Amino acid sequence: MDLLKQRILKDGKVRKGNVLKVDSFINHQMDIALLCEIGKEFRRRFSDEGITKILTIEASGIGIACITAQYFQVPVIFAKKSQSKNIDGEVYTQKVESFTRGRIYDVIVSKEFLHPEDKVLLIDDFLANGSALQGLYNLAKDAGADVVGAGIVIEKGFQPGGKMLRDMGLKIESLAIVDSMTDDSLSFRE
Ligand code: 5GP
Repeated sequence: MDLLKQRILKDGKVRKGNVLKVDSFINHQMDIALLCEIGKEFRRRFSDEGITKILTIEASGIGIACITAQYFQVPVIFAKKSQSKNIDGEVYTQKVESFTRGRIYDVIVSKEFLHPEDKVLLIDDFLANGSALQGLYNLAKDAGADVVGAGIVIEKGFQPGGKMLRDMGLKIESLAIVDSMTDDSLSFRE
């Protein structure tokens, strides 16, 4: 998606630890006009799939998922990062390793909101090692739902998550795939 790639080149900032900061248009201040174009593009790439729910992870996926959902007219569920244990069996739980903080945490979704008849589109801002997306995939599968695919805004193609999840058969549509990045250069996969 050209508009997104141009914006990353203009305003993205490379930080140590292979972190790309996009705080001025996605992760802190949000450019809604750009997010609308992102939502329309996800709709175009997942048209005619009968999607019934969008599943994302808090916090940074929520805004993107909500804007995208307007083009699908379906509800958004966000997996919550949770401290508490699943004692009463009312939630699905998965473990996710945070890319930016390095620690492992539980994410939960209430059993009330995901069902076997659901066709789920996963949405997230970044794909790096794949732990967040794998966690979302597993949550949907725990509910017996059908995972139609994943829409990712920025995939870092030099990290292993994209290959790992595509090898599992997941359809992943990334709007910009960064192939390499250094302090002063960044290149995209065609
Ligand atoms: P993964 O689980 O694929 O290793 O990492 C994906 C998650 O980590 C995303 O939900 C995103 O919030 C965060 N993340 C991974 N890489 C980056 C990055 O380069 N920049 C930012 N801002 N977030 C990242």
